[in-house]
Amino acid sequence: MSELEQVDRDYVLGSYARNYTNFVRGEGAKLYDDTGREFIDFGSGIGVCSIGHAHPKLSEALCDQASKLIHVSNLQVIEPQARLAERIVKLSGYDMRCFFGNSGAEANEAALKIARKYGETAFDTKRYKVITLKHSFHGRTITTVKATGQKEMHKPDFSPYPAGFAYVESIDAIYDAIDDETVAVMIELVQGEGGVQPFDKGEVQDLAKFLRSRDLLLIVDEVQTGVYRTGEFLASQLYEIEPDIITLAKGLGGGVPIGVAMTRLKEIFKPGDHGSTFGGNYLSTRAGLTVLEVLKAEQDRGALAERIEIFSSYLKGLAERLPEYFTEAVGLGLMRGLRCVDAEIQGAILKAAFDEGLIVLKAGRNTVRFLPPLTITRDEIDEGFKRFEKALATL
Ligand SMILES: *Cc1c(COP(=O)(O)O)cnc(C)c1O
Repeated sequence: MSELEQVDRDYVLGSYARNYTNFVRGEGAKLYDDTGREFIDFGSGIGVCSIGHAHPKLSEALCDQASKLIHVSNLQVIEPQARLAERIVKLSGYDMRCFFGNSGAEANEAALKIARKYGETAFDTKRYKVITLKHSFHGRTITTVKATGQKEMHKPDFSPYPAGFAYVESIDAIYDAIDDETVAVMIELVQGEGGVQPFDKGEVQDLAKFLRSRDLLLIVDEVQTGVYRTGEFLASQLYEIEPDIITLAKGLGGGVPIGVAMTRLKEIFKPGDHGSTFGGNYLSTRAGLTVLEVLKAEQDRGALAERIEIFSSYLKGLAERLPEYFTEAVGLGLMRGLRCVDAEIQGAILKAAFDEGLIVLKAGRNTVRFLPPLTITRDEIDEGFKRFEKALATL
């Protein structure tokens, strides 16, 4: 055991099944460990490092901001926060306002508070129940883990959980689950942790229309799908829907913690209704502005669409060629997966890939998940898949 592993084991609570490779540096979609070994990063720190590692524009912006001001508190106006809110709303095309937190769970927590207040104030009788889906993932706080539809995540160790959540298997089962206390439905458009599973566009559009006709809210958790991950700024744009609340986090700060709940209920919060000490501070919102500037330019010049094309043709090819390992290629944009025939193959592939110097992720339903940096180069993609093939050959 390395000295670092010993310190980590001695002093950090054991909530993660950790790999002890010690990364010390990154560049683009490459990571280097403390022995100088190079890895291709097809995981982006779970969809976070959206413009890769050590992007010069982000490093420069962060150094500049850190040398001026990192934090003053939300009792003051924070210029990059206001500018980032404007940027997000304009890119989305929706008529909304933003609340800033520091993570996906916090963004979803804000979304749920917005829905609760709406349910308390917009109807004759109180509405507070939120319907979510069985394979969903919405976070790890007591409330957002309860919003998560995977029953095995509601461990009795942490009970009691807040009331007010109902779970259904699929989108078409949502309609029957709505009762006179239901206020909102919360879904991901492509379930990430649940197996990189995109929903049918028509089904989602019908749901959105139905909820609007009943004055119920559609909350779209875009913590993973947002910020160009599916090729559009928001997956909601790709699906051509207008949700009432959208949450963002992972890719927005390029690695700096940030979360956003945006809503068309522009007047819902009054001073004191919600808050966050760190949320939307100078550093994280400056990061967000820089990430969006870089990614918008990549989209505009067609580079993002090109990468998506290359990546998906590799995955389709693998799924077709190797039915003994894979049942199908799933996902959208640069949020992709290969469904494995079983959990054993999935586990073996993850380990073999790492041994070949390639980082890929796991996801539910025996899926090997790919969330590469959105700025990944052709060479990095080719090299990554070369290593993936080598890993498969060792199985
Ligand atoms: C990762 C994720 C979350 C939780 O985000 P944290 O930053 O870990 O709190 C919530 N929803 C979705 C869809 C996610 O992928």
